[in-house]
Amino acid sequence: MPAANPTIALPETVDVAVIGAGFTGLSAARTLVRRGAKVVVLEAETIGWGASSRNGGMVLTGLKLGVNKLISMYGRDRTQRMYAASLASMDCVEQIVREEAIDCDFSRCGHLEVACKQAHFDDYARQAEVIAREFHHPLRVVQKSELGSEIGSTIYYGGMVDEVSAGLNPAAYVAGLARAAMKAGAAISEGTRVQSITRDSRQGESGWKVTTSRGTHWARQVFVGTSGYTGQVTPTLRKKIIPIGSFIITTEVLPEPLARELSPRNRMIYDSKNYLYYYRLTPDRRMLFGGRAAFFPETDRTVLQSAEILRRGMIDVYPQLRDAKVDYVWGGTLDFTFDIMPHAGQLDGIYYAVGYAGHGVAMATYQGQKIAELMSGDKPENPFVGIPFPGAPLGLYNGRPWFLPLAGAWYKVLDWVR
Ligand SMILES: Cc1cc2nc3c(=O)[nH]c(=O)nc-3n(C[C@H](O)[C@H](O)[C@H](O)COP(=O)(O)OP(=O)(O)OC[C@H]3O[C@@H](n4cnc5c(N)ncnc54)[C@H](O)[C@@H]3O)c2cc1C
Repeated sequence: MPAANPTIALPETVDVAVIGAGFTGLSAARTLVRRGAKVVVLEAETIGWGASSRNGGMVLTGLKLGVNKLISMYGRDRTQRMYAASLASMDCVEQIVREEAIDCDFSRCGHLEVACKQAHFDDYARQAEVIAREFHHPLRVVQKSELGSEIGSTIYYGGMVDEVSAGLNPAAYVAGLARAAMKAGAAISEGTRVQSITRDSRQGESGWKVTTSRGTHWARQVFVGTSGYTGQVTPTLRKKIIPIGSFIITTEVLPEPLARELSPRNRMIYDSKNYLYYYRLTPDRRMLFGGRAAFFPETDRTVLQSAEILRRGMIDVYPQLRDAKVDYVWGGTLDFTFDIMPHAGQLDGIYYAVGYAGHGVAMATYQGQKIAELMSGDKPENPFVGIPFPGAPLGLYNGRPWFLPLAGAWYKVLDWVR
């Protein structure tokens, strides 16, 4: 990670205060400063400390919900625009990586979704047909008999390949984004927790007083990119986000023939369950294997528990890894919304982009850029702005997710019966 100089004097007055130095906040900051705004990024911990440095590095097409569900929620036209945006979000990452020469192993290796049940596989053909017809985007259905060319596991009922998806090293990417934002002129302040944001006019100009653990700023506009770590500072937003833990193990470096057997085409792979596993090889030939092993966000306890749950899951998929040593385990927090959709725009006058539900590498970068364009006075195409943003049913949620054990159990039941 680049070091944001802890001793620099931070600007007291800025055009935009960005909260959170992950993909969302840094992408927004980079876009805003390139358009001439004076920007400070306020990060409670260190650059990339949140999900942005801890994820699986899968740069994926599509959204979390299936296309038929999206069409039923938003109609054909908006769904087409959402799908186009999700494809554009991957191009956006690729373009930034190129323009800023970020050394992060970006590669368009494609992704493979694998079916855990025959019914899931039967649905792949239907999905591929709708996606080809509605969005002109080709997906390839892979029969069980041919699956060996894609994955060295025999437990699945078939798969579906999207050649457009990519992989990258997320920590290297978020570090590069931070360098790019700083090079363009953004000030980044680490170890600076925002404690309150209140409306405050100065000489007749409306704006915000942003109080932090390191002092106070006056900002014309505020942008929040705090994802699964959203706290009390933005209470309305917090009540709309469910923080859910996701965990990853990586094995020791594997012999080349074994790595090739496990993933002959080096795809980004995930399965069709609600309690899903996602996995890939790293460029240094470790198996990186992730999942929602515990629903609660990361603590020493959930990380340790997850290591063993994930190791067992990995061996179910790949018995070949029975004796492979697990070198690393870590966890991070995802931001689910109640409709499992990304949301962006303005709440209580504050700009935000959240709700990536584990699909944030591309979408967070994209939303950061698009909302920054909106803040600078443009009207960018962004089909996620203006869609209904539901809170908890009956308002039974204050930002502390008491229902996570129930939700976890419910999804396990769904995976069992469907
Ligand atoms: C284990 C794991 C695996 C994942 N795998 C994938 C994947 O393979 N592909 C994919 O597309 N997505 C994946 N994701 C999701 C993806 O990482 C996130 O959607 C994305 O990183 C969100 O970026 P962000 O910038 O919005 O938030 P984050 O990177 O989480 O950053 C939010 C930041 O806000 C800061 N903050 C919070 N409150 C305050 C405050 N009051 N003051 C100052 N700073 C504050 C936090 O310290 C944090 O650094 C994964 C996530 C996890 C946890």
